[in-house]
Amino acid sequence: MTSTQPTAKKHQKAKGLKPGKPRPAKDLCSECGLCDTHFIHYVKQACAFLNQQFQRLETLSHGRDRNLDNDDELYFGVHHSMMMARKKEPLPGAQWTGIVSTIACEMLERGLVEGVVCVQNSPEDRFQPQPILARTPEEVLAARVNKPTLSPNLSILEEVEQSGMKRVLAIGVGCQIQALREVEAHLGLEKLYVLGTPCVDNVTRQGLQTFLETTSKSPDTVVHYEFMQDFNVHFRHEDGSVEKVPFFGLNTKKLKDVFAPSCLSCFDYVNGLADLVVGYMGATFGWQWIVVRNQKGQEMLDVVQDQLHTQPVISKGDRHKAVQQSIPAYDKGIALPMWAARLMGIAINKIGPKGLEYARFSIDSHFVRNYLYVMRNYPEKLSQHVPAFAKRIVGQYDLPES
Ligand code: FAD
Ligand code: SF4
Ligand code: SF4
Repeated sequence: MTSTQPTAKKHQKAKGLKPGKPRPAKDLCSECGLCDTHFIHYVKQACAFLNQQFQRLETLSHGRDRNLDNDDELYFGVHHSMMMARKKEPLPGAQWTGIVSTIACEMLERGLVEGVVCVQNSPEDRFQPQPILARTPEEVLAARVNKPTLSPNLSILEEVEQSGMKRVLAIGVGCQIQALREVEAHLGLEKLYVLGTPCVDNVTRQGLQTFLETTSKSPDTVVHYEFMQDFNVHFRHEDGSVEKVPFFGLNTKKLKDVFAPSCLSCFDYVNGLADLVVGYMGATFGWQWIVVRNQKGQEMLDVVQDQLHTQPVISKGDRHKAVQQSIPAYDKGIALPMWAARLMGIAINKIGPKGLEYARFSIDSHFVRNYLYVMRNYPEKLSQHVPAFAKRIVGQYDLPES
C-alpha cells in the first residue's frame, strides 16, 4: 500500500444481498443499505435491530455516553449546545430552510470534504429514495427535501471505500448512523463528519402511498409533508397550497399498520450518534432546531453561521398529562371526528407544550408506543433492544400490562 492510498483497517467482506432478499433483521429491517454491501459481514454488531449498543457507540462518537441524570441529555443525547435557527435566505425547495443542504454545500466548496452521502429521488418518483455520493454542490442540492420513506443510504458505502476519498460528510437518520458508526473505521477515511436529522414514523414506499391516501384530500399532488409543532400534518401540494390535518383526527387504526416495524421499534428519534443534528421538533413554529454534539458538529455549524438567524431554545408547558391520556386512545386506535380534532388541535396549540417541551411530548408519546409494540411483538428482545435512556423515559408513565 502506498502512502496515498486510504488507510482503512484491514477488514472482512461478505457478499452483499440482492434487492428483495430477506435481511438479517427480518421484519425489523429498516433498509438502511448496509446489507446491500460487503459490509454485511459486520451486520450482527452493526444493525440497530440486532444489537442495541448506544452506550458504546456514544462513547466512540462523542468521547462519553449521555448523562441519564441530566434531563436535557436524557432526552436529546450528548451535546455541547442547542439553538433555534433559520436561514436568512431560505433555500427554495428544501424541507425547511435548507440548513442541512447549505452545510453540505459549504463543506464541499471549502474543501473540508470531498464527497457527501445524501439521498436524491428517482427520476420517475419524487418520493423514491436514490442514495448518492455527491461530489458537487449541484448534486447535494438535488438531494434537498425529505424522501419520507426508508432509504438505503448505506448502500453507497462500497463506493465511498473505493473512491479513495479521505474526508466525507454523511447525512442520515438514526438507524443508518448507528450502522455507519460500527463500520466507520473500515472506510479508509481520515475524517467522517456526520450530519443527522431526527426521524420517526417512517414508512416503506407502499406505506407512504397508504398514508397519503388515508390522510390527504389530494394524495397525488403532495410534494412535501411534515408533522408540525402546531399539532397538524402540513401537506404542501404542487400548486403551492398547504393542507392541514390535525394529528388527533388521523385514522390511528389504519396508520398503525402503515409505519414500518423498524420505526415502531426505534428509540433513536434524536439521532444520538450524529455530530450535528438539524430538525425542528425542539424549536418553536417556523424555526429549525440545532443540536451540536461534539467538536466536529461545531465545525459544521461554523461554516454556515453567518447565513443564519439564531435564538436560544425555549421550553414551556407540561406534557405529562397529555402523554398519559393519549396512551389508551392510541392503543384502541380511536380517531376523533374531524371537527372535534380541529378544536382539540387549536386548544392544545394555545396551551400545549412549546419548544423543548414539545420535543419531550413527542419523544414520550413515541417511546411509549414503541415500547408497547416491542413488548407485544418481540418480547424476547425487549430487555436488550430498549436503551437505558428510553427505559427511564417510558418508566414515567402507567402502561397497560399486556
Ligand atoms: P434539506 O436541506 O431539505 O435537506 C434534507 C436532507 O435530508 C438531504 O440532504 C437528504 O439527503 C436527506 N434525506 C432526505 N430523505 C432522507 C431519508 N429518508 N433518509 C435519510 N436522509 C434523508 N425532524 C424533526 O424535528 N422531527 C421529526 O419527527 C422528523 N422526522 C423526519 C423523518 C424523516 C424520514 C426525515 C428524512 C427527516 C425528519 N426530520 C424530522 C428532519 C426534518 O424533517 C428536516 O429534514 C430537517 O429539519 C432538515 O431540514 P432542511 O431544510 O435543513 O433539509
Ligand atoms: Fe441490514 Fe440495515 Fe436491514 Fe439491519 S437494518 S438488516 S443492517 S439493511
Ligand atoms: Fe430508522 Fe428510526 Fe427513522 Fe425508522 S424511525 S427510519 S428506524 S431512524
